[in-house]
Amino acid sequence: MSDVVVVGGGIAGLVIARRLLIEGRSVTILEASGRLGGSIGRHSVGGISLDSGAESFATRGGTVAALVRDLGLGDEIVQPNPAGAWLMPTTGRAVPLPATSLLGIPGSPVAADVINVIGTSAALRAFAMDALLPGTVGAKGASLGELVRRRMGDAVLEQLVSPVVHGVHSASPDDLDLDRVAPHLRASLRREGSLARAVRSMRASAPAGTAVAGIRGGLVRIVDELVADLERFGADIRPDTRALSVTVGSVTTAEEVLGGHVVVAAPGVLETASRLPTRTVTLATLVLDAPQLDAAPRGTGVLVAQGAVGVRARALTHATAKWAWLAERSGDKHIVRLSYADDPADLPEIARADAAALLGVTIEPGAVVDFARVQWSRPNVTEVAPPGVTVVGETVAGTGLANIIGHSQTQAESVLVQLAG
Ligand SMILES: Cc1cc2nc3c(=O)[nH]c(=O)nc-3n(C[C@H](O)[C@H](O)[C@H](O)COP(=O)(O)OP(=O)(O)OC[C@H]3O[C@@H](n4cnc5c(N)ncnc54)[C@H](O)[C@@H]3O)c2cc1C
Repeated sequence: MSDVVVVGGGIAGLVIARRLLIEGRSVTILEASGRLGGSIGRHSVGGISLDSGAESFATRGGTVAALVRDLGLGDEIVQPNPAGAWLMPTTGRAVPLPATSLLGIPGSPVAADVINVIGTSAALRAFAMDALLPGTVGAKGASLGELVRRRMGDAVLEQLVSPVVHGVHSASPDDLDLDRVAPHLRASLRREGSLARAVRSMRASAPAGTAVAGIRGGLVRIVDELVADLERFGADIRPDTRALSVTVGSVTTAEEVLGGHVVVAAPGVLETASRLPTRTVTLATLVLDAPQLDAAPRGTGVLVAQGAVGVRARALTHATAKWAWLAERSGDKHIVRLSYADDPADLPEIARADAAALLGVTIEPGAVVDFARVQWSRPNVTEVAPPGVTVVGETVAGTGLANIIGHSQTQAESVLVQLAG
């Protein structure tokens, strides 16, 4: 029997397991699939190995970078091309993403690059509403969508915030808890008295050009190093082992009941507070022989407003324009990744047409060197930890590595205290 049984071998489970092992605790990790890493993985497209899921991390707070350095990958942290991304509004005419914004919320609703997207009257309305409302409007527990709609109106939410949030979190702003997705924004709003000023102040205090970073060779190298550490520290790792149920002090699989302090790092295992439809994202990766993309016509990619004319993708990343290491490895080829909220049957053709429309160039069928489809889906739940069971991961910490890694590390300290008591 191990001191701790961790259910789920995604980043949350791996990080908490490593911390507990370092402190001398024995740990068993149960992973339902055949590989560790969860939403972080790799695949090979056109002979190039690259991330098949998450590909960058938020640098805020320095949490992820600290772990990356601890894992010996500090010199491999890379910055994306600062050219930034574009936006495809419902009009179908791509424009650069407004410069001063946070998750698409404009720091100046009447700036020319905002008016360019939502029009003058919606911009003036957003400015006036936000300036008039007291800074206290933005209640605890409110979603990001609720806050933006109340303070700046539907146009800002649908044309600016939704495309960015869908591109980053694969979710609607109405389904994202404000404090998880934009920590400190509510405090800044209270301090500054308006959402626009809050965004400007947060942008001003963040070091320039460091919102996200990546790892040369792919984010998946973090998983490789975590797994190597777990093996070195003697973890009992069990792939292809699904937890069927958990209680305080035990986990039941199809074969046995394992005792120990239980850490749940997998969605949908516990009784849940709320359950929405399963969230699915389909990624289409294209390797293209397309010199017309050498000039990176849309910077690092394009975020798409729902209902944009003639496009089904929700976001496009021009991966070889975004990451210099990938451009080096792909030679004269371009790699473009598109994400979809559904799973179209004729995805290769749809992705090629969407890439052409979003990048504003012609891409003939013959230019497609290779194509890959990856589908990610997870139960969309908010979980409640029963007393005596520790819960980590996206369902309690929010989406993204920066949230999840910090939370897992904090929870590891709490487990150590409970084990010592
Ligand atoms: C396509 C995509 C792109 C993304 N891009 C980014 C990005 O660029 N930057 C970023 O910060 N975030 C990104 N994210 C989000 C980020 O990847 C996730 O928030 C994070 O990886 C979730 O980690 P987790 O450990 O909580 O869950 P998961 O990664 O989902 O891991 C949960 C694990 O539990 C296992 N499991 C499930 N049920 C059981 C069971 N009953 N028993 C045992 N095991 C079980 C699963 O197989 C899985 O391995 C992206 C997500 C996706 C899908």
